[in-house]
Amino acid sequence: MSVTCYLLSPRGYCSGVTRAVSMAKQVMKLYGTFYVTEDVIHNKTFIKQLEQRGMIKVDSVDDIPDGSTLMFSTHGVSPKIVEKAEKKGLTTIDATCPIVKSIQNDVKSAIEQGNNVIIIGHKSHAEIVALMGYADGAKFYVVYNEIDIDLLPDFSDDDVVYFTQTTLDYSAVERIVDKLKEKFPRIKPGSNNNVCYATRERQEVVRKIAHSVDLLVVVGSSHSSNAKRLVEVALDSGAKNAILIDSKDVLKDEDLLNVKSMAVTSAASTPEELVQDLVCYLQEKFDIAMEEFKIQDVTTG
Ligand code: SF4
Repeated sequence: MSVTCYLLSPRGYCSGVTRAVSMAKQVMKLYGTFYVTEDVIHNKTFIKQLEQRGMIKVDSVDDIPDGSTLMFSTHGVSPKIVEKAEKKGLTTIDATCPIVKSIQNDVKSAIEQGNNVIIIGHKSHAEIVALMGYADGAKFYVVYNEIDIDLLPDFSDDDVVYFTQTTLDYSAVERIVDKLKEKFPRIKPGSNNNVCYATRERQEVVRKIAHSVDLLVVVGSSHSSNAKRLVEVALDSGAKNAILIDSKDVLKDEDLLNVKSMAVTSAASTPEELVQDLVCYLQEKFDIAMEEFKIQDVTTG
């Protein structure tokens, strides 16, 4: 069977993840073992490689032996964790993405200025959990859908500022912002309140191709927010099927049944070697025509 496979671009590591991966490799070289309380990036294969080379994940800073090295995740950590690590005298390496860091600083100052702060995002995602650490009893709310917005208290007479998790579907965020504006006409966007440029670019290219393929494959981990959003964006944009796989090893023959055209992309935390492994596998299995599909005019920022 002959299949056309579009390899999407941009895909894979964003700037924040590239930086964190390089820091993790350097720390491993320098210190051998290091500790984390959160995965440095949301990719199971990369994390497994680090664990095999000596990275140790713990539940709490209290579990880290004195004199050790602690690395903070790309998604950032709560200020309480930073404080605890400092008190304990640990060597800390901060792999927080500069974009996330800048959102943390803006949320902190919005809270200090007495605003009600609304974050559009997933309560359990590491980036939001870290941001919640800045609230410390202030008026801080996380919403993800209209029900969450309905449940917000009526603070329409107060100052309200919103921010956005960096890895959401940007068109879904626009709809949530519209709803927030209906409820709180005076609501203001916080500075740095957008879905990250890397998330937008990867979604944009998926949006453009999804309707013309039988299958869109996202290579990424199931706990990666931006990976899951790519699958949703593909289905919303007309893909007949879209799946998320960690690696070629979990691709099933049935996934490719009757597929004549497909597209492959990867999450912002997926190592490119996993995509290339999949491409090699597809080339061995099918009479396949590989084509690059790029978006030249994506919005960056
Ligand atoms: S997706 Fe954006 S905000 Fe998140 S780590 Fe990558 S560059 Fe940073």
